[in-house]
Amino acid sequence: MADASFDVVVIGGGHQGLIAANYMIRNGYTVGLFEQRRELGGGGCTESRPISGFIGNPCAHVAGLWASPVNQDFKLHERGLNYIFPRVHASMVYPDERCIVSCRSYEWDKETGMVVPLEDVVEKNIKEVERISPRDADALARWQSEGKIWEWGFAAQGVLWSPPALPGEVDLVEALIQNPNSGIDRRHQFMTATEYVCDLFESDELRAHSLRILDSVGIYPDEPAPLPVMLSNVPMQVIGFGGAVYEGGTHNAIHAFQRALAEGLAKMALRAAADSGLDTVGFTGGVAFNELMTRKIREVVESEGLRFLRHRQVPPGDGGVSLGQAVVAALASS
Ligand SMILES: Cc1cc2nc3c(=O)[nH]c(=O)nc-3n(C[C@H](O)[C@H](O)[C@H](O)COP(=O)(O)OP(=O)(O)OC[C@H]3O[C@@H](n4cnc5c(N)ncnc54)[C@H](O)[C@@H]3O)c2cc1C
Repeated sequence: MADASFDVVVIGGGHQGLIAANYMIRNGYTVGLFEQRRELGGGGCTESRPISGFIGNPCAHVAGLWASPVNQDFKLHERGLNYIFPRVHASMVYPDERCIVSCRSYEWDKETGMVVPLEDVVEKNIKEVERISPRDADALARWQSEGKIWEWGFAAQGVLWSPPALPGEVDLVEALIQNPNSGIDRRHQFMTATEYVCDLFESDELRAHSLRILDSVGIYPDEPAPLPVMLSNVPMQVIGFGGAVYEGGTHNAIHAFQRALAEGLAKMALRAAADSGLDTVGFTGGVAFNELMTRKIREVVESEGLRFLRHRQVPPGDGGVSLGQAVVAALASS
C-alpha cells in the first residue's frame, strides 16, 4: 500500500465516505477509500441487536436519503435499494387521550426523483390539526394555500443535500430569509427549537408534536438548530412530508453504494486494461474479501469479455502477504 498513489483519499467508509468515493470515481479520479472496521457502512451497518437473534440498526434507520440526487445519479434502485413509505407518517397521543395522526402526503418517483404532492392528503392532515387547534390549522392552511410550505421545504432540502453555495451562488434558504414576502422571520435562524416551534404554532399540542419530530432528527428543545433542518422538519412533517425506511434494513443502502463503487472500480480497471492491451483483470488486497464487491466487479469485467482473476488458494489480504514473505524468505535462505 505504501507505494500506491491516489488522486483522492477518503478516510472512513460510512455512507458519506462511500458516496464521496462514488462521485470521485465517476469523475475519473483514482480513489483510495480506507475503513478501519471490517465492514463498510459506519452508522448505516446492521448489527445483532438489541438482543441475540435480532438484527437492528444502531444509527440511521429513518431514510431521508430518498430525497438525495444520489439515488438517480447511481440508479440505486437498480442496485437493490428500495424505500418503504409508510402511509401513516407521524403521530402523537396527548395525556387527555386526544391524538394527532399525519399521513404521508406525497408520491416519489424513483426513476426521476420527482415528488408529487397529494393535496387531498395534505388537506386531511390539516383537518386533523384543526381538531387539536383551529388557529394552528388556519396558519397551516394559509401557508399551504400560498405555496409557502413547499417553497420552504424544497429550499431547505436543496440546502441540506447540496454543497454550500459558493460566492456568487444563491443559497436558497438565505434567499428566503432576505425575501420579506417569504413568510420566514429573520429571527428564526437564531432560535432554539423550542422558540421556533412556539413562534410557529399556538397550541402546546402542536408545539410538542413538532419538538418530537425535531428530536427524531437529533435536534433537542434547547438547541439553536440550523434553519434548513427546522424548515424541512416542522411544517413539512406536520403536513405529512418526511422520511421513509429502507426496505430490508439500512445496510441495503450501504450495499447499493458498494455495488456502485465496485462498478466504478471495474470500469477503472477496464480502462487501464484497454490502455495496456491486457485481456485479464484481477482483484486482490484485503478488500477482495468483500464478496459483494468481488461479485459485482466480476460481473462487469466478464460482461466486457475480459477474463476475471480472483484468489482461490491463497487469501487476498494479510494471509497472502505472509505466505509471500515466507516464500521469499525460504528462497533467500535456500
Ligand atoms: C443514535 C443515532 C441515530 C441516528 N439516526 C439517524 C436516522 O434515523 N436517519 C439518518 O439518516 N441518520 C441518522 N443518524 C445519523 C447517521 O447515522 C449519520 O449521519 C451517518 O452515519 C454519517 O455517515 P458518515 O459516513 O459521515 O459517518 P459514519 O457512519 O460514522 O462512518 C464513519 C466511518 O469512518 C470510519 N473511520 C473513522 N475513523 C477512521 C480512520 N481514522 N480510519 C479509517 N476509518 C475510520 C468508521 O469506522 C466508520 O465506518 C443517527 C446517528 C446516531 C448517532
